[in-house]
Amino acid sequence: MQPYTPGEQAAPGKTIKLNTNENPYPPPKAVVEAIQHAATGAINRYPDPVATSFRRAAANALGLPGPEWILAGNGSDEILTMLVRGFVGEGQRLRLPYPSYILYRTLADIQGADWEQVAFEDGWQLPAAFGKTENDVRLVFLPNPNSPSGTVVPPAEIEQLASTMTCPLVVDEAYADFAEANCLDLVQKHENILVTRTLSKSYGLAGIRFGFLVAQPQVITELAKIKDSYNCDMISIAAATAAMGSQEWLAEVVAKMNATRSRLSERLATLGFNVTPSQANFVWCQHPSGDHQGMYDFLKKNQILVRYMKFPEWGDGLRISVGTDDQIDACLMMLENYLKKNA
Ligand code: PMP
Repeated sequence: MQPYTPGEQAAPGKTIKLNTNENPYPPPKAVVEAIQHAATGAINRYPDPVATSFRRAAANALGLPGPEWILAGNGSDEILTMLVRGFVGEGQRLRLPYPSYILYRTLADIQGADWEQVAFEDGWQLPAAFGKTENDVRLVFLPNPNSPSGTVVPPAEIEQLASTMTCPLVVDEAYADFAEANCLDLVQKHENILVTRTLSKSYGLAGIRFGFLVAQPQVITELAKIKDSYNCDMISIAAATAAMGSQEWLAEVVAKMNATRSRLSERLATLGFNVTPSQANFVWCQHPSGDHQGMYDFLKKNQILVRYMKFPEWGDGLRISVGTDDQIDACLMMLENYLKKNA
C-alpha cells in the first residue's frame, strides 16, 4: 500500500512556508477569544458529540436550511475517511480524477477497496465518462477547485455528471472559498451530491483540525452512525463556531489572497512558466526547462518551501501556495535568481 505523505512541516523559524496551502494570516480575533474562553471552561467534561453550536453557525453562514445538513469532523480528512468507510466496502471501488488529491487512493487502500482514476483532459476538463459509473463504483471524489491545478469544473457540469452516476459524488470544496462558484445549492437539489469543506485554508485554522460535510439530512444521519463518539474537541468546536460567525473577516482575507494569487500568476508567467489559471489559494506552474526538482531544491536551500509534485505518466511541476505579498516576492526573486544562473 502506498502511504499518503503529508507536506513537510518546517520547524518554526525563518522558513517561508508555501507548500501546504495554509493561510499566511492569523485567524480572526473572535476565534482566538473563543479558544481562550473555551480553555478556561469545562474541559474536564466531554464535548458536544455532534458540535451543535458549530453546525448552527455553519448552516446560518452558508444559507442552509438547518444544522441537520451538516456533519462536523476532525479536519476534512476525517470526513473523507468516514465517507470511504461508509460507502465503499472491501473489493468495491472508488473513483477519482487524475491528477488530484492522492489521499483518496490511500483511504481506499486502507479500506481494502479498489480505486480507479479518470484522467483530466486538456484544459483540466472532465470527460463524460467520469459520470458513467458501473455498479461496483460506490463513491466518486472530485476536488473542486482541484489540487494541484486550482481549476474548477463548473457546477452545471458537475450536476450533469452526477445525474448519470449510480453512487454519491463527493465534491471536495477544501478551496471553494477562493473560487467563483461552489456546489452548495446542488446539495439541496440532489441526494447524491455531497460537499466537504475545511477550516484549514480560508479560515486560517489548519492547526485546530476542523472540517465538515454538507449533505441531505438522511445522508448525514446515516454517516453519523459511524463517526467516533467525540470526534471534535471542545476547544476546536468553539474556534470553528466563532470562525463561521466571522464572514466579513473571511471576505477580506480571501480578497487579499486572491489579489496576491493574481500577482504571483502574472509574475511566474513573466519568468517563462506555464501557469494554470487558479481559483484556489495556490498556483500550479511548469517551466519549459522541466527543471522543477532543481528549483525546489534551490528554494529549499534558501529556506523557502514549495511543493514539488510528480505524477507518474503525466508530469511534474511546482505548486506554490499563496503567502503574504512579501513571502511571494521572496520566492519569485529566488526563482528568478535560479533561472538566471541556469539559463
Ligand atoms: N481536500 C483537499 C483537496 C486538500 O488539499 C486537503 C488539504 N491537504 C484536504 C482535503 C484536507 O484538509 P483538512 O484535513 O486540513 O481539512
